[in-house]
Amino acid sequence: VLIDRIERARIAVGAEPTSLRLGPTGVAAIGGEAEAGTAASVLDAAGRALVPGFVDAHVHLDKAFLLERTAACAPQLTAAIEAVAAVRDQIPLDVVRDNARRAIELLIQNGVTAARVHVEIDGAVGLDLMHVQLALAAEWRDRISLQLVAFPQRGLERPGILQLMASAMAEGLSVVGGCPYVDRDPAWHLDRVFALAERHAAPIDLHLDFSDDIGSSLLALVAERVRAHGLGGRVTIGHVTTLAAMRPDAQCAALELLAETGISLVLLPATDLFLAGHGEPGTRSLAPFERALAAGVRVAIANNNIQNPFAPFGNGNLVQAAWLTGIMRRAAELRLRAGLLEAISREPAAILGLPEHGPTLGAQADFALLDVERVEDVMLLAPPVLATVRGGCLTYLREALQLRAAVSS
Ligand SMILES: [Zn+2]
Repeated sequence: VLIDRIERARIAVGAEPTSLRLGPTGVAAIGGEAEAGTAASVLDAAGRALVPGFVDAHVHLDKAFLLERTAACAPQLTAAIEAVAAVRDQIPLDVVRDNARRAIELLIQNGVTAARVHVEIDGAVGLDLMHVQLALAAEWRDRISLQLVAFPQRGLERPGILQLMASAMAEGLSVVGGCPYVDRDPAWHLDRVFALAERHAAPIDLHLDFSDDIGSSLLALVAERVRAHGLGGRVTIGHVTTLAAMRPDAQCAALELLAETGISLVLLPATDLFLAGHGEPGTRSLAPFERALAAGVRVAIANNNIQNPFAPFGNGNLVQAAWLTGIMRRAAELRLRAGLLEAISREPAAILGLPEHGPTLGAQADFALLDVERVEDVMLLAPPVLATVRGGCLTYLREALQLRAAVSS
């Protein structure tokens, strides 16, 4: 359903409800001007908070809902990778496709209008998972933008994977992924990723530093290559739980390095809090959101996994992911709460290279309508999504629940 006007929406901290008129290119008017004239299709926000549509900067659809198909394993990264790899070639593609559809539906119900999807490129399945997800991206393109990353989950050193990665990029994936910590020679892995990205003029999105061991950090190696290739603003790193384990001075220097080189950071709390933090007592296992913002680093908070050995509690809800980050990083002050909201909306949109969106004049009409009145309360209450709008189209509307009293005689 195409929406012409949204009425009685709260779009800013401390603001009274207002109207927005939506046109073919986005938000055409806000306030009195938006109320003039007739509208064919109106969404009544009833005084609730209307925020920019959520953007998931990092999600795995081809591993969604595998919890019951994988053997029970320790809450540990290598064990999780092995548990999925052990069943990878036994899961019919139809099941992967159905699970991915269920995950996409869940994202949309949680206010998500765009997502960057890491597509597993693996010897056991070749490019099958990629073909499934290219088809899904086309199938869902009217409701959500899915940007696909070629992701070598088990490294590039295994036979044939470099060729599969090259084919994946040649067949139209838009981002080169990497996972240097699974290979024996992480520097060689990074060199291959940067070379492939250069060949396709593509951005890079790395799984990086997913460890409590600061000695294993590859941040300097990545920064060196970002500088050498002039890729500032085009490289994103996810997890980076080593940041949480660093002493304050080392952490500060690392964050400054990210800010200087223009490397974006993605926190994945449902996984980072589950799989990391098993090291020294006091290890927090979630990169320092509030300090990264202060250092000028672009930060997003994303889902990563939905109910599998990497994140049994993954639920596709970015508001809850940001809420959890707020608790873990003690980010309760108003400025940081606003930062948390940006970290699931405008910041990941910038990482994906999407145009500006949200309830501002001229921006793309992508919104989430939340069941809360004050925008400033979003991160405290983590309210449910009432409606999702993408490109002016209603992609989700929560049905009003009917409560019936059963009276027995
Ligand atoms: Zn991931």
